[in-house]
Amino acid sequence: MSLEERQILIIGAGPSGLIAAREAARRGVDVLVVEEDSEIGVPCHCAGLLSLRGLKRLNVSVDGSYVQNRVRGAFFYSPSGLSFKIERQSPVACVVDRSALDKYFASQAARSGAEIRSNSRVHDIRLEKEYVAAKSKKEIFKASIVIDAEGVSSRIVRAAGLKPTNPSHLLPGFQLDLYGVDVDPNYVEVHVGSKVAPGFFAWVIPLSSNSVRVGLGCRKANPKELLQRFIERRFKGEEYEILMSRSGTIITSGPIGKTFSNRLLIVGDAAGQVKPTTGGGVILGGLCGAVAGKVAAEAVNLGKFDEDFLRLYEESWRKKLGREFKYMLWARRILNALSDRMIDKGFELIIKEGLQEVISREGDMDFQSGVILELIRRRRILRMLLPLLRLLTPSSQ
Ligand SMILES: Cc1cc2nc3c(=O)[nH]c(=O)nc-3n(C[C@H](O)[C@H](O)[C@H](O)COP(=O)(O)OP(=O)(O)OC[C@H]3O[C@@H](n4cnc5c(N)ncnc54)[C@H](O)[C@@H]3O)c2cc1C
Repeated sequence: MSLEERQILIIGAGPSGLIAAREAARRGVDVLVVEEDSEIGVPCHCAGLLSLRGLKRLNVSVDGSYVQNRVRGAFFYSPSGLSFKIERQSPVACVVDRSALDKYFASQAARSGAEIRSNSRVHDIRLEKEYVAAKSKKEIFKASIVIDAEGVSSRIVRAAGLKPTNPSHLLPGFQLDLYGVDVDPNYVEVHVGSKVAPGFFAWVIPLSSNSVRVGLGCRKANPKELLQRFIERRFKGEEYEILMSRSGTIITSGPIGKTFSNRLLIVGDAAGQVKPTTGGGVILGGLCGAVAGKVAAEAVNLGKFDEDFLRLYEESWRKKLGREFKYMLWARRILNALSDRMIDKGFELIIKEGLQEVISREGDMDFQSGVILELIRRRRILRMLLPLLRLLTPSSQ
């Protein structure tokens, strides 16, 4: 066993950990990222739909070779088959190969000076007053500060005595890449309803005009079986080939209550920094990772690793994103409480009042509070949701 002393140890080489590494290392401090898997970005669990604005916010090129397609809108389908379309003139989002994107994040972090080591799984961690000790099979690490970027299955959160994500807000997800179908490559599809995907939704994300990434998340049901049924209906009569399957855990809880401790910062899925409306976590987790990297570097430069200093991390990301998480969680709770009949009624209202134009105009895939409030303020929507709003106001979160 070798003993390694480092200033910042980051556990997990997903987007949140790698962006934290990039931001810390570019401030001249010593950073090591350890990853349990042998290849960065593999296995991949993600659908890879990311807003172009979000990638720019992360300082990531929207023209990289990881981009598989660009989309400029979405079709939404209700339980009874009502539908509306939201769109912009030019692309608003891209579909990425997440494995390739994670490798790109790793190259950015390495160029900034971080070391990234695969095949190194931390299985034991101790937060001492003077340092943090962590162990993998072959190494013992002694670091001034640790960033936990382990993803949804983080064990460090619990080991640090913090409250992890409530498991009842974790949903199983399953998706397939299909080749040989006929779709419009410019639009994503979102299908809701208790028969399709109870407690969440099904997605069809075009990779081209003849290939898609189709998947769903659900509550108290088998996502594989539901997806098979959905595909049979959606692509009836089409002869397609299955290219790839992926499963994973979708987080809908919003962030955990506390994301720091002495000598510890928690980022990304491990901290629940995922949009509760859609389960997307790359952009917001990445933004929080960037804040964590900056604060960790500052901690090293000032020699301050106690909670009094590190709460700056939580204060900063909550200032940027707290309101967004609050309203998206509120929207998720409302959506979960709606019956199929009420969802259909909501679709009718959106179509009748032309609200798809408001969503097209005001919508931001990552910063959703504006459009959520804009919709709720509409008199007829408000009237429909009033009984639920009384029970589920954001102040009661
Ligand atoms: C089905 C599905 C579809 C999704 N689609 C989208 C989407 O379209 N858009 C979007 O934005 N988000 C999507 N997400 C969410 C997105 O994948 C996550 O939010 C994102 O990957 C979180 O990044 P992260 O760096 O926090 O964690 P992860 O990407 O999970 O990375 C954590 C890393 O830590 C490593 N690790 C864990 N424990 C240890 C350890 N002890 N030692 C060393 N290494 C360790 C893991 O191997 C992993 O590489 C989807 C999720 C699912 C399940």
